Amino acid sequence: MDESSRQVARAALIEERERLLAEQRETTIQAPDPMTYGSQAAAASQVFAQQRDLALRDHNEIQLAAVDAALARLDAGTYGTCITCGKQIGAARLEALPAAAHCIDCQKKVPAGRYR
Ligand SMILES: [Zn+2]
Repeated sequence: MDESSRQVARAALIEERERLLAEQRETTIQAPDPMTYGSQAAAASQVFAQQRDLALRDHNEIQLAAVDAALARLDAGTYGTCITCGKQIGAARLEALPAAAHCIDCQKKVPAGRYR
């Protein structure tokens, strides 16, 4: 991978990182509001909203960790190679998914949703 490709990847990763951090600020878990516990329906919808926010936050943290790990690989000079088999990750795949840590073949063996 040449220097200009690394610069493109770094810019994409930093942009993704900013987006994820902004998303994290928007999904701050709200403390239950005692006023909404007046009815069953309101309580249920609040529980639903909390679970949705927790799921979003989990997903967000996994993605953020993947982006940080990719930035660390850029610094270490190992970015763009699969962390499992060491082969080059395709340029098109990296363009679509800058935080990809695995080549397509190894990704198939990683549990869904996992990046590392
Ligand atoms: Zn691989």
